Amino acid sequence: MNFEYSKKSKELQDKLNHFVAEHLVPIEKEVEAFHHDPANAWTKWPGLEGLKQKAKDAGLWNLFLPKTYGELSPGLTNMEYAPLAEIMGRMLWSSEVFNCSAPDTGNMEVLSKYGTPEQQEKWLKPLLNGDIRSAFLMTEPEVASSDATNIETSIVADGDEYVINGRKWWSSGAMDPNCKIAIVMGKTDFEAPRHIQQSMVLVPMNAPGLKVIRPLTVFGYNDSPEGHAEILLDNVRVPKENLLVGEGQGFAIAQGRLGPGRIHHCMRLIGMAQRSLEIMAQRTTQRKPFGRTLDTYSSIRQDIAKSACEIEQTRLLVLSAADKMDKLGNKEAKDLIAMIKIVTPSMTLKVVDRAIQILGGLGVSSDVPLAHYFAAARTLRLADGPDEVHMSQLGKNVIKKYIK
Ligand SMILES: Cc1cc2nc3c(=O)[nH]c(=O)nc-3n(C[C@H](O)[C@H](O)[C@H](O)COP(=O)(O)OP(=O)(O)OC[C@H]3O[C@@H](n4cnc5c(N)ncnc54)[C@H](O)[C@@H]3O)c2cc1C
Repeated sequence: MNFEYSKKSKELQDKLNHFVAEHLVPIEKEVEAFHHDPANAWTKWPGLEGLKQKAKDAGLWNLFLPKTYGELSPGLTNMEYAPLAEIMGRMLWSSEVFNCSAPDTGNMEVLSKYGTPEQQEKWLKPLLNGDIRSAFLMTEPEVASSDATNIETSIVADGDEYVINGRKWWSSGAMDPNCKIAIVMGKTDFEAPRHIQQSMVLVPMNAPGLKVIRPLTVFGYNDSPEGHAEILLDNVRVPKENLLVGEGQGFAIAQGRLGPGRIHHCMRLIGMAQRSLEIMAQRTTQRKPFGRTLDTYSSIRQDIAKSACEIEQTRLLVLSAADKMDKLGNKEAKDLIAMIKIVTPSMTLKVVDRAIQILGGLGVSSDVPLAHYFAAARTLRLADGPDEVHMSQLGKNVIKKYIK
């Protein structure tokens, strides 16, 4: 594997770093404070649209969409996108500025890959343009949703329409005032074999019967403005042409969607871990307990050294997964994708935890991003598949490989 980035990727890394330093770093505290203020919950920071336009003008737009999507894509491989996502991961809210935020990226990939020309015109185009946002509604409060075959929402054909009934939660992005479309997973055939019971349909957020019940919080953070909603689907009707691909294809689409989504999360987590390392390293020369600066203590150097090793190990593993996805496809790369999903959130948590410890009280305050990083990284040990599920699948595959 060659980790040398292409000229195009290097140029974009420079451009993105420059953009972040010029436009985002100076307003970071202001934006964070805006989003943390409960009075502004579910309100967009007023400067966001202007920044998005600037990013678009600079050619820093939709960078995530892989080359395989042809004209829709800016032409980067997963490998080339990785360092860009890492830069965006350093600021939790920054991906949206470049139209590279979850769950929109996964949803755009689904629509690019599986949408009809009409679905693409109606929903993909405005998403790619950054005019609207989207949500992905799979998880349900009533069933163990880490096993997608448990999903109970029903999607029943009735003439030219589907009627949808169910309750969802952890629908990220659904609180965003700009969220206009949801991809909903439910069952069209409860009697079919387990993996072909599910289907996915496109449901406009303003469809009658779709009720946002409440926003959920993550360790107290509301993750405004996108948020995570609990949603009731009460006899929601959509035309049959809103079905994605075909009845019974929901599970297959979900599998296809999660590969790229998972690697993007991991790339951004590396950015969080890297910035945590930089923050703790800088702090060590500024604080002087017991007569000497922190950087002179052996235990502190060990924390910094271990963090540097673990970040680099994980970064290389993520690049290795990206490279395999580029060369052999998402399916062939599934073991590496499982590995990074198991390793990266835990590695980030360890590094952020060390940084918090080194910063003392400052570490858990909102003056630095560490507490919010911790909350975000912790959720990724269970969101998009809990660690145990990935380990179970990976373990099974590894055993199979060696008993052949
Ligand atoms: C911040 C956040 C954002 C999210 N965004 C979305 C979203 O946009 N859309 C969406 O649909 N969902 C979303 N989710 C939901 C997330 O994907 C689910 O919470 C996750 O899949 C686990 O499902 P569950 O909560 O039902 O846990 P359960 O299925 O009840 O599992 C509970 C626990 O059981 C254990 N477990 C499960 N399987 C095994 C096994 N095989 N072996 C051993 N132990 C096991 C694991 O520890 C697991 O955490 C989000 C969650 C969070 C926290």
